[in-house]
Amino acid sequence: MTTTLNAPAGTSQGSTATEVLNRVRTFARAELLGKEEYFDSLPDQPTAEAARLHAAGLANWWIPAAYGGLGLSLADSVDIVSELAYGDAGFAFGAFLPVLGTAMLQLYGTDELARPVLERMIAGGGRLGILGSEEEAGSELGRTATTFRRDGDNLVLNGEKYFSTNSGSADLLLVLARSADDEADYAMVAVPREAPGVEIVKRWDMIGVRGSGTYQARLRDVAVPAAHRLRGNGLRHLEIGLNASRILIAATAIGVSRRIRDLSMEYAGQKRIKGARLQDNAVFAAKLGQIETLVEVMRSQCRAAAAEFDRYLEAPDGGAAALYRVGSLRSALAAKLFCGQAGWQVATLGSEMFGGLGYTHEHPIGKLVRDMRYVSVVEGGEDVMRELLYTRFVVPAGKRR
Ligand SMILES: Cc1cc2nc3c(=O)[nH]c(=O)nc-3n(C[C@H](O)[C@H](O)[C@H](O)COP(=O)(O)OP(=O)(O)OC[C@H]3O[C@@H](n4cnc5c(N)ncnc54)[C@H](O)[C@@H]3O)c2cc1C
Repeated sequence: MTTTLNAPAGTSQGSTATEVLNRVRTFARAELLGKEEYFDSLPDQPTAEAARLHAAGLANWWIPAAYGGLGLSLADSVDIVSELAYGDAGFAFGAFLPVLGTAMLQLYGTDELARPVLERMIAGGGRLGILGSEEEAGSELGRTATTFRRDGDNLVLNGEKYFSTNSGSADLLLVLARSADDEADYAMVAVPREAPGVEIVKRWDMIGVRGSGTYQARLRDVAVPAAHRLRGNGLRHLEIGLNASRILIAATAIGVSRRIRDLSMEYAGQKRIKGARLQDNAVFAAKLGQIETLVEVMRSQCRAAAAEFDRYLEAPDGGAAALYRVGSLRSALAAKLFCGQAGWQVATLGSEMFGGLGYTHEHPIGKLVRDMRYVSVVEGGEDVMRELLYTRFVVPAGKRR
């Protein structure tokens, strides 16, 4: 059965987490920072930098020690993602997104299914692709048209998946599908990417987070053992895993905001306005004070949401039963919604900061603005976050649908 995603409280995790964070910061400054043009060029996946993250022993840092991993908590992951995103948001996104799949696998897959996948991810630095969205079913995943049907000991899948990050190079795909015989039955099914019938149709030319790779995929009569289905309802699995990845998407906004703040300070140290350095201007000071406030509140909300998720995982069953009952966490939805909005405010301040130069490709701010946008779009837009918060947490319990 399951194990926790992170090391149990009271181990030496505190010092490990600080040490790992320092190493990630050093990695991000050395390997990611200043390579805006390269990461913005839609580099081939996996990138050489991803291989070096693995070589440094830092890839998939949240996978528990029981599988050979570092076993860092989601709360620790907030600062790790902020550091990676300070270097490049797309790289950070590609690196942490597998947490969505590993959470689902650990909590609801059998040990026979989950263990080899997780151990391989530690040994080889590999990634998982999550295939939820379809052309007609992005936020409305209940309209999923990809089907599975039982054929002896196998499940056979058919369908088209619109967006899935990392799936071009992932070892394993987790596919949301609906029973061909029972419309109410949704399954999350583990599919090796090399399985016959899996086809990567194209890589999307995204406007931001271009250091990651997002693909359209097709499944034609893809057969996998029936034991590759996770226990329970696939829609629920996705909600549960999305808690982790939505919090880390939100944490990307912290890293990008910090980068905008630091670039602004650098610029304001040289730029002169009305005979003085911009740095000494009261209007500039107020803007930077505002940015710092937003960074601080984003960080607090991400950490609080991550700590809540971590607490669920401390249960003897790894949190599987309790999380299955709650699904989406209010704190995770709020983190994603708030950080998308706060990050966008920072991006707007940043995009004005550098005058006309900031509106050219010569300056990195344009890329940072495009990268920031993904926080509000991916894994549910703002309307979707607001609707979930309303229907799950505002409507009185007895009246919820
Ligand atoms: C870079 C990137 C990476 C991605 N990676 C993955 C991945 O790995 N796996 C995966 O499965 N998917 C992935 N996606 C898909 C992504 O999660 C969806 O695109 C996103 O959730 C938005 O869904 P949608 O495209 O269906 O748009 P919709 O949510 O349908 O939005 C379209 C419009 O409908 C409005 N709307 C939607 N719901 C409501 C509502 N309840 N009330 C009012 N208005 C509403 C929106 O505000 C918007 O105006 C990725 C997308 C991107 C851009």
